[in-house]
Amino acid sequence: MEKLISGKVVSAKVRAEIKKETDSLREDYGIHPGLAVIIVGTDPASQVYVRNKQRACEEVGFNAYEYAMSENTTQEQLLDLIGVLNKDAKVHGILVQLPLPDHIDEQAVINAISPEKDVDAFHPQNVGKIMIGNYDFLPCTPAGVMELIDSTGIEISGKNCVVVGRSNIVGKPMAMLLLQRNGTVTICHSKTKNLKEICANADILVVAIGRPNFITADMVKEGAVVIDVGINRLESGKLCGDVAFDEVEPKAGFITPVPGGVGPMTISMLLKNTIKAAKIKNKLS
Ligand code: NDP
Repeated sequence: MEKLISGKVVSAKVRAEIKKETDSLREDYGIHPGLAVIIVGTDPASQVYVRNKQRACEEVGFNAYEYAMSENTTQEQLLDLIGVLNKDAKVHGILVQLPLPDHIDEQAVINAISPEKDVDAFHPQNVGKIMIGNYDFLPCTPAGVMELIDSTGIEISGKNCVVVGRSNIVGKPMAMLLLQRNGTVTICHSKTKNLKEICANADILVVAIGRPNFITADMVKEGAVVIDVGINRLESGKLCGDVAFDEVEPKAGFITPVPGGVGPMTISMLLKNTIKAAKIKNKLS
């Protein structure tokens, strides 16, 4: 049995389905899903992410609209642009690449995006809907992780699920999605005591902390599903996850690599949210 969970393989399947759906939306209804991506400043990692997102949009046949704004853009200018895009019928999804420069209040920007176009699912209204379990959009990274877990065929219900990290974009929604699928969920963070013991009891371990090779083999249960969300760049320039892959892999039942694990799924889920937004807008969903 293949224990490596390939985000590339799972995400290629998702993208092929999205492409098919996009073709039929265009042919049957004349609808072209459109995603607006806003980037402020010149952070190199953000530029790579934005480029990858645009390329993915083009691959599946979406219209991608890029708005590259200077580092000195004021909050008001950014909010004005979002206001225009909120009203633009060609734009079904709006994504503001984070982080934003320090002089801009990130939450104010998120709050300004119309919840119907909030394909990152960061708007408080969408966050609340996830909490209730009645949502239109799921945040991309946790949704991608769920698809990866499901690709293993492992049942989540009743399993001990441990999420390390409690950020608003990954850890917290991740825990909520596992809970909705009847996992018994523990959320860990930097103040957690006995982290090693808690992790070692996990049937499903999801790690999103941003610390290279932090999770070692002694923290992992034999046969566990290990999902590594972390993306860390080492001094050598090499990318690595939060899990010490080489030592954990022999012990894990399933494990994601970095790169090529969660990363490709995040973008696929963004595409999924965008096509859903286009369908909802046109009363097809
Ligand atoms: P944040 O920095 O927002 O959150 C990190 C979390 O990890 C915090 O909750 C923090 O705890 C916890 N933490 C930090 N150190 C420890 C420790 N020693 N023990 C236990 N918990 C710890 O990060 P994000 O959630 O935004 O991202 C996490 C990682 O995932 C990063 O490497 C990021 O690059 C990556 N990422 C990858 C994505 C993908 O597409 N693959 C998408 C998004 C993120 P506390 O709250 O107590 O401070």
